Amino acid sequence: MSLPAIAIVGRPNVGKSSYLNAVCGRRVSIVESTPGVTRDRVAVTLEHEGRRFELVDTGGIGIVDEHRLDEHIERQIDIALSNADAIILLVDAKDGPAPLDQKVASIMRRLKKPMVLGVNKVDHPNQEYLAAEFFCLGLGEPNPISAKEEIGIFDLLDQALDCIEELGVDPEGEARPKFAFVGKRNAGKSTLLNTLAGEERVIVSDIPGTTRDAVDVEIQFKGRDFLAIDTAGMMRKSSVANSIEFYSQTRTDSAVRRADVVLFMIDATSAISKVDKKIGALL
Ligand code: GDP
Repeated sequence: MSLPAIAIVGRPNVGKSSYLNAVCGRRVSIVESTPGVTRDRVAVTLEHEGRRFELVDTGGIGIVDEHRLDEHIERQIDIALSNADAIILLVDAKDGPAPLDQKVASIMRRLKKPMVLGVNKVDHPNQEYLAAEFFCLGLGEPNPISAKEEIGIFDLLDQALDCIEELGVDPEGEARPKFAFVGKRNAGKSTLLNTLAGEERVIVSDIPGTTRDAVDVEIQFKGRDFLAIDTAGMMRKSSVANSIEFYSQTRTDSAVRRADVVLFMIDATSAISKVDKKIGALL
C-alpha cells in the first residue's frame, strides 16, 4: 500500500538534506557544503503526530555539474511530480531569491501539485524578515525555518500533510485496501455500495448525478475491512456543462489513482455506451 509522499525540492546547498535529517532526528542524508556532491535518492518513512508518510530528498539525484543546475533541478521536479503528493520547496534565506529559485517557482506555479515554501537558514527569530523577500516568487507565504536550529521544520511538514489530506490522499498510509467504484451515472454504484455496507451510508437516487462528491465508506465484509471510494458518475464530455460536474469528474480521476482496486460497473440493461468505453480506456 503506498504511503503519501512529500518531495523536497530546491537548488543545491539550500539545506534539503539537512532538513530531511532534522525532521528524522538522525543522519539519513549526506550533508555537504560543496554543491555537486553525489548522493543517492533518499526516501524515509516517517510518522508525525500519527500521520505516516514518505519524505524524499530529491537533491541526491545523479552527479550535479555546477554548470548544469537547470537540468538538475528539472530532474528533481520530474521526480517530485511523478512520485510525490506534495512538494516542499526550500530556498536559502542567506542568499535571497536566486535566479534558479525564480525558475523553479515559475515551473511550480503552473503545476497542480500542492506546495509549501520553506525559507531555510533563518537561524534566529530576528532574521525572520528575510523570509518576506521570497514573496516575489509568487508561491504563497514563505515560511522561515532553520534545519540547523530545528526551527519551524515540523510546521512546514504539517502544512504539506494538510495539503495532502485536503486532496484526499490518505495521510495515515491506509492499510485497508481501497476500492473505487466507477461507471457511468446510474449504473448502480451507490446501490452496490449500500448493499455491501448493509446500511444506507450513501444516498442513492435515480436522479442522474446525485452522488456528486467522492465519499469514502468503511466497510466490513466477511470479516475483512476495506475502504470503498464511491465516486461521482462520469459524464459525457458534452455534458460537462457546469463546474460542479467538472469537479466531480476530476474527483473520479483522483479516486481511480487512489484506489488499489477499481470496480468498473456497467448497466446491463442498456447498451455499452461511449462513456463506458471511455471509462474502460482510463483503467
Ligand atoms: P542540499 O544540497 O540542499 O541538500 O543542502 P545541505 O543540506 O547539504 O546543506 C548545505 C549547507 O548548508 C551545509 O553546509 C549545511 O550545514 C548548511 N545548512 C543547512 N541548513 C542550514 C540552516 O538551517 N542554517 C544554516 N546556517 N546552515 C544550514
